[in-house]
Amino acid sequence: MNILITNDDGIYSPGLASLSRVASAFGKVMVFAPDVEQSSMGHAITASRPLYCKKSPVHFDDHVEAFRVNGTPADCVALGSHLWEKADVVLSGINIGSNLGNSMWHSGTLAGAKQAVLMGIKGIALSTPSGENEPDFKSLEPFVSEALQLVLADPDVNLTNINFPKKPRGMRWTRQAVQHYDGIVIPGKDPRGRAHYWFTIMPLDPAEEGTDRWAVENGFTSITPLRLDLTDEKKLLKSMDTRPVEWPEDSGSLKPL
Ligand code: MN
Repeated sequence: MNILITNDDGIYSPGLASLSRVASAFGKVMVFAPDVEQSSMGHAITASRPLYCKKSPVHFDDHVEAFRVNGTPADCVALGSHLWEKADVVLSGINIGSNLGNSMWHSGTLAGAKQAVLMGIKGIALSTPSGENEPDFKSLEPFVSEALQLVLADPDVNLTNINFPKKPRGMRWTRQAVQHYDGIVIPGKDPRGRAHYWFTIMPLDPAEEGTDRWAVENGFTSITPLRLDLTDEKKLLKSMDTRPVEWPEDSGSLKPL
């Protein structure tokens, strides 16, 4: 198996080195990671300037080739899978900070996996909470290996979001928590006295059982199968039924309701 690895914390992240170590047991690994941190960049791509792919300044294991790219996680996957056509799967992470519930909308880590699926490759995002200290990646590695064994062997799993608690006591298949969150903006002042603002995200409701947030809060590794199609099927069917629209052949325009 050929495994392309990216992240959004950048080429120097210990989470990237840890994931590369674990993944090496599953196949050949190549790393394409952003040269600087790209957290919360979502699925941005770089279309207004050229991208460069340079040898990594960080040494990974001897058999792992690694490159830094002056772009986003999605850029790294698009470029990496262009240069390494044989990639079978993309792993993105291990992110320093969980990507649960609504964080998925902002996550650069998940975007790396989503870009893989857009290109017809299996994509798996991996994250773990960060506190005051950096996550203990070494002690997490057996659990990362366990989760990868499960997901890589499943032919039906395509886009997958995995979150590890600090000390996992088991795994759970979960769904995305969708409760509202508070996008608090906290004002402050910079050293020159100018007003500046920090964006923070705080969930407003307790996590519902069966969700990704619930699993991690209760010490389980959360594995959420995702899809790229955002269509609300129920709403679509209801709208087609209750508010039908027609395209008259002669006018070529929408019929007024
Ligand atoms: Mn990050």
